[in-house]
Amino acid sequence: MARTLPSDPGGPLAAAEKPSKPPAVATVLRTPELQSLRSIYPHRLIVEAVREQLKQERGGSREPTGRLEAIRSSLSEATSPRLLPVINATGVVLHTNLGRAPLSPRAVQALVSIAGRYSNVELDLESGKRGDRQTLVQDLLCRLSGAEAAMAVNNNAAAVLLALQSLARNREVIISRGQQVEIGGSFRMPDVMKLSGSRMVEVGTTNRTRAADYEAAITGRTAALLRVHTSNFNVVGFTETTSLRDMADIANRHGLLLIDDLGSGAMVAGSEPAVAESVGVADVTTFSGDKLLGGPQAGVVLGRLVAIRRMERSPLARAVRVDKMTLAALEATLLDHLLGSETPVARMQGMGVDEIRRRSNVLRSELNQHGIESSELPATSVMGGGSLPGNQMPTVLLALAGAATALATRLRRGRPAVLCRIQDGRCCIDLRTVLPNEENQLLEAILAAARSAPNHRRCEPA
Ligand SMILES: *Cc1c(COP(=O)(O)O)cnc(C)c1O
Repeated sequence: MARTLPSDPGGPLAAAEKPSKPPAVATVLRTPELQSLRSIYPHRLIVEAVREQLKQERGGSREPTGRLEAIRSSLSEATSPRLLPVINATGVVLHTNLGRAPLSPRAVQALVSIAGRYSNVELDLESGKRGDRQTLVQDLLCRLSGAEAAMAVNNNAAAVLLALQSLARNREVIISRGQQVEIGGSFRMPDVMKLSGSRMVEVGTTNRTRAADYEAAITGRTAALLRVHTSNFNVVGFTETTSLRDMADIANRHGLLLIDDLGSGAMVAGSEPAVAESVGVADVTTFSGDKLLGGPQAGVVLGRLVAIRRMERSPLARAVRVDKMTLAALEATLLDHLLGSETPVARMQGMGVDEIRRRSNVLRSELNQHGIESSELPATSVMGGGSLPGNQMPTVLLALAGAATALATRLRRGRPAVLCRIQDGRCCIDLRTVLPNEENQLLEAILAAARSAPNHRRCEPA
């Protein structure tokens, strides 16, 4: 460290080495170069950025050279959105970390038309009287599911909480030990039950719960039987669960309610877990709007009129109510189902391996023209988001040559970010979850990531 020594006061060398003191904030603010920023950023933000820059210069972590550029880029960074679009090349269709269901064009259009304007969210245009936001989607939900009544709340966790709170508070709810599910984050069934004020009564064992187990646990304090779809794991081997129908028989015989948390419900006939089947026997059925339904984050509640009315009247309903943006996107998604237009989620779910291979081949030959080597790798995609565990869809991965983790990191840090998956030690792209209009961006992103690789393996351009 060349510092001025006390024994060497002054001298030409010492003077040259002495770090120049950063100027005052006001001085920098007056420089002509900074004026260009004034048309973009408010004064306060510029002052903060200048102050921070000068502080760093004083601390020695930034150089005065390139001061303006540093200020400009810190302002740009501070005012750029943090929530960014991401290309999902993982093959996990309902990836919770990536926002689950991408919305359909109809749902996106509905958001655009409602978001920036006033709407009739709580106004009956016919009578001019105050309306109920729930009526906006109620009819569609009932029509699609065959349910007597319906409501939409913030998410499925809220739907379950509201059902338990309004229908079973201070009473007992019987649940199988095999359905003590943790969904992820802090959504654990026993905790939700405690929060709702209902008392959980566990029956059976992890792998087997019989009808008689439920029956034996019923007391004068029992309010309901609860079934929770084991949506993110499978219990295999020596197992037995009580069917929803048998649970309904027990509930009916004892005058109890049957609540069914489906987790991921699809309106489509024949798909699991079937909403229609649940609606036929349960008093309340709940599921997420952004799982197999393919819509926005929401909790869909279907069921008998008396039960839904009690849920609507709970003060908690207000705390978990949906806003107009959700209603707009949910209504549009339900219209998609009614009109038979495929949601992006359904499209991805139904995509055959031939189509994925064809798209993969197109991308591979484009990459090849840029000298980037790749190969085909057979694999499986999954629904994810706690839907259809164990249900794997055959796919074809595009496996990029080169150091997998380094490549994956560069792809993730690129803009748009690309989330890929590492399989067999290779950085892989599963085109099932890449939207068709993202393919060009994906190509550019891979090219950029490969170019910045220190020594990526190239093949001879074809
Ligand atoms: C996903 C899931 C939930 C939570 O739903 P959110 O919409 O994420 O709140 C609750 N129960 C089950 C069984 C689930 O699969």
